[in-house]
Amino acid sequence: MVVVMAPEATQADIDAVVELVQAAGGEAFVSRGVSRTIIGLVGDVEQFGALNLRSYSGVSDVVRISVPYKLVSREHHPNRSVIHVGGVPIGPGLVTVIAGPCTVETPEQTLTSARMAQAAGASMLRGGAFKPRTSPYAFQGLGEAGLRILADVRAETGLPVVTEVIDPASVDLVSSYADMLQVGTRSMQNFTLLQAVGSASKPVLLKRGMNATIEEWLMAAEYIAQRGNLDIVLCERGIRTFETATRNTLDISAVPVVQRLSHLPVIIDPSHSGGRRDLVLPLTRAAIAVGADGIIVDVHPQPAAAMCDGDQALTGDDIREMATVVRTLPRLLGRELTPAPVPAGAR
Ligand code: PEP
Ligand code: MN
Repeated sequence: MVVVMAPEATQADIDAVVELVQAAGGEAFVSRGVSRTIIGLVGDVEQFGALNLRSYSGVSDVVRISVPYKLVSREHHPNRSVIHVGGVPIGPGLVTVIAGPCTVETPEQTLTSARMAQAAGASMLRGGAFKPRTSPYAFQGLGEAGLRILADVRAETGLPVVTEVIDPASVDLVSSYADMLQVGTRSMQNFTLLQAVGSASKPVLLKRGMNATIEEWLMAAEYIAQRGNLDIVLCERGIRTFETATRNTLDISAVPVVQRLSHLPVIIDPSHSGGRRDLVLPLTRAAIAVGADGIIVDVHPQPAAAMCDGDQALTGDDIREMATVVRTLPRLLGRELTPAPVPAGAR
């Protein structure tokens, strides 16, 4: 059960609901959004019904929800959400392109990649500073030095930055540089990390675990929401199947399925799913056609020399082709490419 507080509800109103629920033997989880506070109730639903919470001051609605994820469900929030990242909207009616290198290597490589991202139609920059690598001998990322480079490139280009955070202890550090925190496929069920980003003040990009069902993915999002952070964008990035021709199998049907179940925007990663440059454009067309709210794509000035995932990075002519696809296809389907933000110096 979920109690939706009115925008004008006071702290005393919220405390009163929490105390009532606790006195009835339940637990109450307060989640503060930008416009309203939501209280998730865990315990005996029948007993909560008897409390007649709707009659209390500041309560606007009491919702009984049948799915196990509550705050991220459309039962709770029927209209699809728009999430703003450094002023860039992601949500219905739009196709938001996020692009950049898999990993930050040098200031020059990151700036050149950001320019390539802009040429491809991107309004946000991606780039890893903390890399969750399968091999402990592989490049692990530049850490804070990488975050500094991303912040410098944001200042130069105006592109808000999304970058991965791999452990709860670095959430504050990454939040101090990034506009959006990425939780990668390998971390989707790191519940302490989910709670830590749920307590952070930045929006979260939650990738689907490569072995996770849609319900497990939405429950992971619920962990974040339950800590008060409802600014979540979901990213389908391919799941493990028997198929070996591609790195992972892009579950294209996850997009309409999740958009029906959850109000959160859903984007697709056509780079990490296929793991092959030649698949990025076809999968991008599929993503836009199926209704994805955006894409996140790897680009690199010299893919052959990339320290991570060069095989899937777009470069050269592919960037021009990407720009054509994202400028023409959304419009045919009644949506718009999200415009790039204007850099502060150019306003
Ligand atoms: C990435 O986007 O850099 C990444 C590591 O992705 P994933 O978690 O989907 O493998
Ligand atoms: Mn990668």
